[in-house]
Amino acid sequence: MNQGLHARLVERLRSRPLQALILVVAVATTAAAASPLPRTGAARTSLATAVQQAVGVQPPPAPLRLVWEGVDLDGDGRADFANPTGQGERGRDAYGEGEFGASRDGGSRRHEGVDFRADAGQSVAAPISGYITRIGFAYAGDTSLKFVEITNPALRFAARVFYVNPRVQVGDAVAVGRPIGTAHSLQRKYPGGMTDHVHLELIDTAGRHVDAGRVITAAYAADRLAAD
Ligand SMILES: [Zn+2]
Repeated sequence: MNQGLHARLVERLRSRPLQALILVVAVATTAAAASPLPRTGAARTSLATAVQQAVGVQPPPAPLRLVWEGVDLDGDGRADFANPTGQGERGRDAYGEGEFGASRDGGSRRHEGVDFRADAGQSVAAPISGYITRIGFAYAGDTSLKFVEITNPALRFAARVFYVNPRVQVGDAVAVGRPIGTAHSLQRKYPGGMTDHVHLELIDTAGRHVDAGRVITAAYAADRLAAD
């Protein structure tokens, strides 16, 4: 089947699923019987996927796992952002919710980061590549909880990763996804129902806080795709 025909079929599948499905079956059967043209695996796969989407058929169960993906902002084919803990966003707990913009202090301010659940002591990964530009205390007068700031002028972002016991120093270069330290426990600071987490702020060059949840997203992927 040539690519133009294939493209039109896929388009029709999306707009008119049932009629197109019949057409696909007819064409595919005819092509299989009569055409000596080899059909590529990719074409068969995308056609099968389109058919499954059109008729709502689920693919056979395959081992799936949650994979965190970062947006490729500079277009070099590699993710520019990484989930610092590999865990999901902090949901509602006794102290609030972890998503960007969540209410804080009774609504007087908004959450300027995204909280990713963490196990105290676990390794924390750099959410962006860059240079360590600051290590500081998360709260004035409390030396137990620290943050690490990574700045990447090319990406035009800085990332502040809170509640990390740093294993890096100011001036170090770090690569996205590589360890920068370990997660603190928040149980002494916030007793009685705080989910341990890493708080991640992304700040653009204009000083605006950006929703990290828009550049670090989750998808289910089959295990065989995990190495891609
Ligand atoms: Zn937070």
